[in-house]
Amino acid sequence: MTPIELSNPVYSDEDAARTHIESIRWPNGPVCPHCGVINDGIRPLGGKSMGPGWYYCSSCKDKFTVRMGTVYERSHLPLHKWLLAFRLMASSKKGFSAHQLSRTLNVTYKTAWFVAHRIREAMADHDPEPFGGKDKVVEVDETFQGPADDIFVNGKGWQKKRGTASKRKIVSLVERGGRAKSVKVEDLTVKTLKKVIFPTVVLDSTLNTDEAQHYKEIGREFTKHESVNHSQGEYARGETCTNHVEGFFSIFKRGMVGVYQHCGEQHLQRYLHEFDFRYSNRIKLGCDDSERTTRAIKGADGKRLTYRRLNIGEAA
Ligand SMILES: [Zn+2]
Repeated sequence: MTPIELSNPVYSDEDAARTHIESIRWPNGPVCPHCGVINDGIRPLGGKSMGPGWYYCSSCKDKFTVRMGTVYERSHLPLHKWLLAFRLMASSKKGFSAHQLSRTLNVTYKTAWFVAHRIREAMADHDPEPFGGKDKVVEVDETFQGPADDIFVNGKGWQKKRGTASKRKIVSLVERGGRAKSVKVEDLTVKTLKKVIFPTVVLDSTLNTDEAQHYKEIGREFTKHESVNHSQGEYARGETCTNHVEGFFSIFKRGMVGVYQHCGEQHLQRYLHEFDFRYSNRIKLGCDDSERTTRAIKGADGKRLTYRRLNIGEAA
């Protein structure tokens, strides 16, 4: 990642941080989060009692700040610390752990953990533009994550359980030269895979997968389906390959092993949002660290995330 310009006042000065977030969230001036009114309907609230950053909406006669209706709502953390957290998570290729974040922001581990998960939520693209299209290739593959559950076998003691049945399953879609989308799934049946692939990939696309049986039926729905035969040692045949989605998995796995060592199953999807986000907004697509950070901050809008939804009691 490029060095963070720590001298930038948005990382130390609260007014500068708030103004920066306002300019990203409201490029054309404040918008009332209660009723959507803009321009003349809104005036800044002065006065020492309120503190800076408050606005009054004359239409719904309510007041608001830029935090309202975003992932920062109800957080007591200063916005300049939020901005630094966004910058660190958006620009660290393998992620930024809650321990590192806690030290860097000088906050408790619990606060850092919560901030990190809210930023992952801001990074989530819940309704992405469809992938693929005419002459475009979308690679689909699955991977497994998490430790094997050991099982006790009489006479042998604890044994590593073989196979992947107990592991967490992830399906990823990567548009070649484009974005990634990853979904944690319960199983790898055709029915489940259809639910992941069909809403995301345009049927006009060329689908590239491995030889797994479950992709055959799905592949028939697409303009073209090409597969490589991994079990026969074939990894690429001309343009046909799944190397891009496998490259994505390798970044994800290095991050999960090196940075995020423990990840509760209920939080896995949010980590996937984070890795999808950085991949989909990467340098090769013309998005540098600074622009990626801005895009994540834009995503903070409309995504409140509460402690209850995070189930913090079960935090790893
Ligand atoms: Zn209003």
